[in-house]
Amino acid sequence: MKKESLPIYQDLRLPLIEEKNVQVLVKRLDLLHPVVQGNKHYKLLYNIQAAKESGHSCLLTFGGAYSNHIHATALSAAQNGLNSIGMIRGEIPKPLNPTLADAKTQGMELYPMSRTSYREKNDPEILEKLKLKFGDVYIIPEGGTNALAIKGSREILEPDDKEMDIVTVPVGTGGTFAGLLASASSNQQVLGFSALKGSFIHQEISSLLEAHQISPFCSWQIHAAYHFGGYAKFNPELIQFIKEIKKASGIPLEPLYTGKMLFGLLDLIRQDTFPRGTRILAIHTGGLQGLRGFNQRFHTDL
Ligand SMILES: *Cc1c(COP(=O)(O)O)cnc(C)c1O
Repeated sequence: MKKESLPIYQDLRLPLIEEKNVQVLVKRLDLLHPVVQGNKHYKLLYNIQAAKESGHSCLLTFGGAYSNHIHATALSAAQNGLNSIGMIRGEIPKPLNPTLADAKTQGMELYPMSRTSYREKNDPEILEKLKLKFGDVYIIPEGGTNALAIKGSREILEPDDKEMDIVTVPVGTGGTFAGLLASASSNQQVLGFSALKGSFIHQEISSLLEAHQISPFCSWQIHAAYHFGGYAKFNPELIQFIKEIKKASGIPLEPLYTGKMLFGLLDLIRQDTFPRGTRILAIHTGGLQGLRGFNQRFHTDL
């Protein structure tokens, strides 16, 4: 794939950005790949390769009923001639929502997992049980974060991106953020915007860095104040914001990750956090497949 030919950088032009004299360049990973968009493409890349090389024919992973990771795993598996199994938290909605319907169409077998056992899904005993039940499956954790996902996420930043002063990204499990920290250079600062409520994410990132022996050259920070009440929570202001950005720039956002990140970034710009002339690279991590289910559930028109 010839990346240079893809128009994935978009200058975000808004009165606020002009007024503060900064640059916000959106790196649109939502456009990068026709099938598996966003950061999940990078997170799965080396996992799929490893699964194939070790002779596995089936991937097994975990996620909620609207999960981008479930969706991406089903599509990547199918594209690579692998089977896939999705362990879904709680119940499987009937009829299937658009995320799970796509997954099933791609051949993913879906199984509900009670919330209690879902909480213990990383427990070695539970994983052994799953292997007894399903055979020698290649297991990818919830959200896809493991060593190979971090390795893949390092590739999000390309040589040209080194010119940017600030790199921003939404943070869920932190795997993508960790990959960016491993690849950003010493002149850069990486800013994560947590999609979840609580300050545990700071500890989570420290543990990830330690576990994967990453000592960043760049500086970094996590903003934990733009979660809008918690994971998948939102308010009318966020919905309105997403609509306005789309109208002003054509950039589609979703309310779980990218909408919250850009809202937070623009708020920081409003507060004069960045000196004039600062060049900011905002990573659009995709996730747009989730909009269909979101709109159905909450009667929005994003
Ligand atoms: C999964 C996801 C994230 C979070 O990625 P992590 O590596 O878990 O932090 C961010 N944005 C979108 C659109 C996602 O689907």
